[in-house]
Amino acid sequence: MPIATINPTTNETTKTFDPHDAREIERRVALASETFDKWRRVPIEKRAELMRSAADVLETDVERFARLMTIEMGKPIQSARAEAKKCALVCRYYADHAAEFLANGVVATRATKSWIAYQPIGAVLAVMPWNFPFWQVFRFAAPGLMAGNVGLLKHASNVPQCALAIEEVFTRAGFPGGAFQTLLIGAKEVDGLVRDERVAAVTLTGSEPAGASVASTAGKVIKKAVLELGGSDPFIVMPSADLDQAVPTAVQARMINNGQSCIAAKRFILHEAIAEEFERRYVEAVKALKVGDPMLDETEIGPLATPQILDELDAQVRTSIEAGAKALTGGKRIDGPGNFYEPTVLSEIPDGSPARCDELFGPVASLFRISNIDEAIALANETPFGLGASAWTRDEREQKRFVDDLEAGQVFLNAMVASTPELPFGGVKRSGFGRELGEHGIYEFVNIKTVWVA
Ligand code: NAP
Repeated sequence: MPIATINPTTNETTKTFDPHDAREIERRVALASETFDKWRRVPIEKRAELMRSAADVLETDVERFARLMTIEMGKPIQSARAEAKKCALVCRYYADHAAEFLANGVVATRATKSWIAYQPIGAVLAVMPWNFPFWQVFRFAAPGLMAGNVGLLKHASNVPQCALAIEEVFTRAGFPGGAFQTLLIGAKEVDGLVRDERVAAVTLTGSEPAGASVASTAGKVIKKAVLELGGSDPFIVMPSADLDQAVPTAVQARMINNGQSCIAAKRFILHEAIAEEFERRYVEAVKALKVGDPMLDETEIGPLATPQILDELDAQVRTSIEAGAKALTGGKRIDGPGNFYEPTVLSEIPDGSPARCDELFGPVASLFRISNIDEAIALANETPFGLGASAWTRDEREQKRFVDDLEAGQVFLNAMVASTPELPFGGVKRSGFGRELGEHGIYEFVNIKTVWVA
């Protein structure tokens, strides 16, 4: 894949970048390693001050960063602005809380004194996706830098300007040059970096094949890896649900980011008592969505990020329809320039078809009907993924069942799944392992050191 900005709204290539050559990669990795020796000794209060400055830079330049995101991957500009602001929030969250999370934890034992110390481990390589081109990076960088690690970013090849802008945020905030660096490299350079002794660990957010490849190299060289992979989250609606809230939330939960979110609700599992009404209201709301130029404030759905994603989604929907699924609205690509796809709702989806089994990364909702909670849970857990799950019910016993039995890293009741700085985020099953955000996120890349004084 070329490292380039190819505007998904027009398919025009507006900027191309020469990848970093071996010498430049070496220079940056060496700088990361040297910087780590100094950065780890910088008092945490000073690190927090710089992290707050990074938040200030993000907030000052929201508009410019938002436009970069929209130009490179097509998200509606309002969401892009919200994303830049959310990055500032996560910087402030870890600036405020890292000292408390990393404070020595005294534990009473047979020793005169014993405690747990949390120490940084070195340079962490982050392999990141284009779908939330700022947020995915900041949720790794803010805890990592606060813990005293340094960061090396290999961003997706279609968002190079975002990648460089993120490096610029940390530079302008006053971080030392090697604390956070962007590597303009293709995926094939990742293996060598994971093997490099100066790289202590790797975190990857992306697809299963990329995750499996990076984690297997990390396994061979015995390095810590965190994987945030795909999802096919269920959105379950039971008879007691408040449909006035559930329906609009269900539209947002599927269509956010033009349908390209790992935690988007992808499979809507509807109890037969409310299915018909839900379906009618849902289809009506999806039909009303404004598709168009993502630079316009009123646009709700922009183009898909690349022509490959459009082709793959189109093939998945066509295969599902050929197998017997019914399109209640949408179901095809939109002619003209740009990677636009009609917001789509599918029902009567047969077993084994892509809309039932695979992750559909675009504005396509799959509707299913069930007649009781056991069927709902069985269908929800049917996929190999286990990222998030949303369940709508006012019945407390049902709520408990969902919390206990849904195979997911996060269960949201009467709300859509979302990430927030305060709570851990991650998956089970093939959605990956490890956690980002919250207190748990900062512990992934530290040495949890036991200290015993006789
Ligand atoms: P992708 O192809 O896996 O790309 C993600 C990153 O991995 C990019 O930087 C890519 O670089 C790199 N990469 C690809 N193949 C690689 C390999 N063999 N070795 C090393 N690096 C490799 O993912 P995508 O299709 O762009 O992103 C969509 C996927 O990400 C979806 O499945 C989505 O659910 C998942 N996702 C998960 C989360 C989460 O938090 N769980 C969040 C967002 C997205 P190039 O661009 O240079 O190929």
